[in-house]
Amino acid sequence: MDFYGRFSVDEEWTPVTAWGLSGYVVAALLIVWLAHTDGHWVFLLDSANLAFHEAGHPLFGLLSDRLTVYGGTLGQLLFPLAAGVSFFRQRAALSFAFCVLWLGENLFNIAVYMADARARVLPLVGNGEHDWTEIFSRWGVLDWDAGIATLVRITGWLVIVGAGLWLWYRLTAAH
Ligand SMILES: [Zn+2]
Repeated sequence: MDFYGRFSVDEEWTPVTAWGLSGYVVAALLIVWLAHTDGHWVFLLDSANLAFHEAGHPLFGLLSDRLTVYGGTLGQLLFPLAAGVSFFRQRAALSFAFCVLWLGENLFNIAVYMADARARVLPLVGNGEHDWTEIFSRWGVLDWDAGIATLVRITGWLVIVGAGLWLWYRLTAAH
């Protein structure tokens, strides 16, 4: 580490083992299965996402009233992003991949909420205001809620598969 607490960029990534990659694949399959079956709820992760979401509203609301509605989504993305950046700097390959997995899972969670913008059938925490009804209405894209949600969901898939392929590359490149 240098004076500013940064890790030098050319530092080697920690080696990825077959066990590490297997753990990633098992966790990814479990998450994808839970996120795409009844309830669309991934235990532990979605509870954490919800906590960070609810903390994000008042936190970003401090910056600006108009940001309050975005604060939930920003809040729940902030933690996997911050953890991911930290592990990236430490060149901790497996931990970094798991943060990317969490980020992708977060996108599934957000997509479920987005897709509900017009239907409004999800049970909501707080004052019952629907973030995405408000956000999509502001943007004038409320009719596109399902399409936008699908794009976000596909991005989640790409992110999760991408991190798995990257781990596999790191494992095979080491030999
Ligand atoms: Zn919210």
